[in-house]
Amino acid sequence: MPVMRLHYHCEACEGSWLAEGEAVLEADCPFCGTHDVFVYKTDEHVLEADDAATMARQLAAAMREAVAKPAPRAAERPRLKRTG
Ligand SMILES: [Zn+2]
Repeated sequence: MPVMRLHYHCEACEGSWLAEGEAVLEADCPFCGTHDVFVYKTDEHVLEADDAATMARQLAAAMREAVAKPAPRAAERPRLKRTG
């Protein structure tokens, strides 16, 4: 999952802060405690060298796993059932 940098700005106390996450979520202001402060901006996380190496290993592992598994055939996919 891509990690995003989330930019928050609290209108109650004019406080700004950053967090990282895989999804955009409201957060409580760490300065004044206001609940559900919205993200006003997101950046793609800039990976450090160590993170890039970790991600490359995870990607390689995921690809090995994907190659080992047979692709699902059409007949094995769940079919919709008529209920009435
Ligand atoms: Zn605040």
